[in-house]
Amino acid sequence: MKIIYADNAATTKMSRVAIDAMLPYMEEYYGNPSSLYSVGQKAKEALEQARADVAACFNAEAREIYFTGCGTEADNQAIISAARLGERKGKKHIISTAFEHHAVLHTLDKLKKEGFDITLLDVHSNGIVTAEEVAAAIRPDTCLVTVMYANNEIGTIQPIKEIGAVCKEKGVLFHTDAVQAAGHLHIDVKDQNIDMLSISAHKFYGPKGVGALYARKGIILTNVIEGGAQERGKRGGTENVAEIVSMAAALKDACAHIDEYAEKETKLRDRLIAGLDKIPYGELNGDRVHRVPNNANFCFEGIEGESMLLMLDDKGIMCSSGSACTSGSLDPSHVLLAIGRPHEVAHGSLRLSINEQFTEEDIDYIIASVTEVVQYLRDMSPFWRDLVNGKRPHVFSE
Ligand SMILES: *Cc1c(COP(=O)(O)O)cnc(C)c1O
Repeated sequence: MKIIYADNAATTKMSRVAIDAMLPYMEEYYGNPSSLYSVGQKAKEALEQARADVAACFNAEAREIYFTGCGTEADNQAIISAARLGERKGKKHIISTAFEHHAVLHTLDKLKKEGFDITLLDVHSNGIVTAEEVAAAIRPDTCLVTVMYANNEIGTIQPIKEIGAVCKEKGVLFHTDAVQAAGHLHIDVKDQNIDMLSISAHKFYGPKGVGALYARKGIILTNVIEGGAQERGKRGGTENVAEIVSMAAALKDACAHIDEYAEKETKLRDRLIAGLDKIPYGELNGDRVHRVPNNANFCFEGIEGESMLLMLDDKGIMCSSGSACTSGSLDPSHVLLAIGRPHEVAHGSLRLSINEQFTEEDIDYIIASVTEVVQYLRDMSPFWRDLVNGKRPHVFSE
């Protein structure tokens, strides 16, 4: 049986480059970077080289990069820092969007309980918010705008440079959760007016459990983790040297191939979308053009996402759904609801996230398998029978 891993938005398999980069820092240079003998100093040098390499990928300076334990931590630290800077000036209003990752939304919930006023912008049905909408929401007491670069479920890319320009003009800090974008799209923090940016290694073929926060020089960060003087006093804890070095190697490698991989993936993704478009009563989620090259996300009427995943797994296809049980809650994906999908349709979603190593044959196998599974599940579904009998209205057209 074919085995196809099509869940690269959830996590990626580590690249050979990333694995090879970390081994010497586990076997040979295992010293604590804060120590003065040579195995520690070698680790320290590698840490600082990694910082410079990560910075270079975003046109930032090395001292603007802070290593964290994951993308979630970077999001937390960016938002908490902006909130603390804001409240000192009496500014307690934050703007974000309804379809952010929970790392952002739950941090905002926490600040709301502290008395911050949070505006979550609606997202258009194509999965995009506009700079004009951000501009219209900014108030004299706004201290932060945080808008994700690319959505992790539907893959849509936001107009980051334009949003950044609006924030710069109005003197409001701008953070972007770029976890799905880093290593996949060209990012230039200066050109795109980005003040803070979060990344996570395991989304670009690096290891899990390591991330980074870019914070433009002059922005004073608040600690999320208190401790020693690591990361210029802003993130205590002995540095995860091997994984940090590996992350930098993975990012450098991904950035060196961005155009090549994007071109390959876009072709494959569009073939996938064209194939799945043929399934009746289904629809692509998110804009067709402004989306990351590796993502296809569909809703199919009359289907439970969970059942679809299990049946696809039987066919060797690993992918995900924004639906109920997978996420351990009964609510459908907040992302799909944010773009206006009705509950019953949001339950039948399927996210396929590929990489550049896929072949056309893999794509065709996925298309055939999904088509078959959707038909099979519909044939068994009482809900689908109601749709066919006209007892319930269809949401999508044939
Ligand atoms: C994966 C992801 C995160 C969380 O990153 P972790 O390193 O897993 O904590 C945050 N935001 C987005 C958009 C993601 O896709």
